[in-house]
Amino acid sequence: MTNIKNRLSEDKRNQIVSEMRQEEQQRQAGYREKALKLFPHVCGRCGRDFEGKKVRELTVHHRDHNHDNNPQDGNNWELLCIYCHDHEHTRGVQEDRIEGSGDASEQADSLSYSPFAALAKKISQKQ
Ligand SMILES: [Zn+2]
Ligand SMILES: [Zn+2]
Repeated sequence: MTNIKNRLSEDKRNQIVSEMRQEEQQRQAGYREKALKLFPHVCGRCGRDFEGKKVRELTVHHRDHNHDNNPQDGNNWELLCIYCHDHEHTRGVQEDRIEGSGDASEQADSLSYSPFAALAKKISQKQ
């Protein structure tokens, strides 16, 4: 019995994670496309040019670190290359904690940070 139970909850967990991942990807694709139309394909930090195929390395950074704040004029967005974006978040972690605005959706912004870690923690606490 225990085995079946474990397998079921594992399936459910995998399902939740893949749904969240899909949702996040769709959201990303939505505002990334808009941001790429609005701004020149240049990293806002290192100033490198990401025209053409290299545009894949450009990501959308949220200036206020709030993924749900997506004004259509793009004033909360900044195009950063994956390297500078990573750096931006590593640098900002401490400040975010002090401001007390560290929710899960905001942490999902960083490529180096797993947005599902918090979820996995939550699930494992339930068991
Ligand atoms: Zn850069
Ligand atoms: Zn960011």
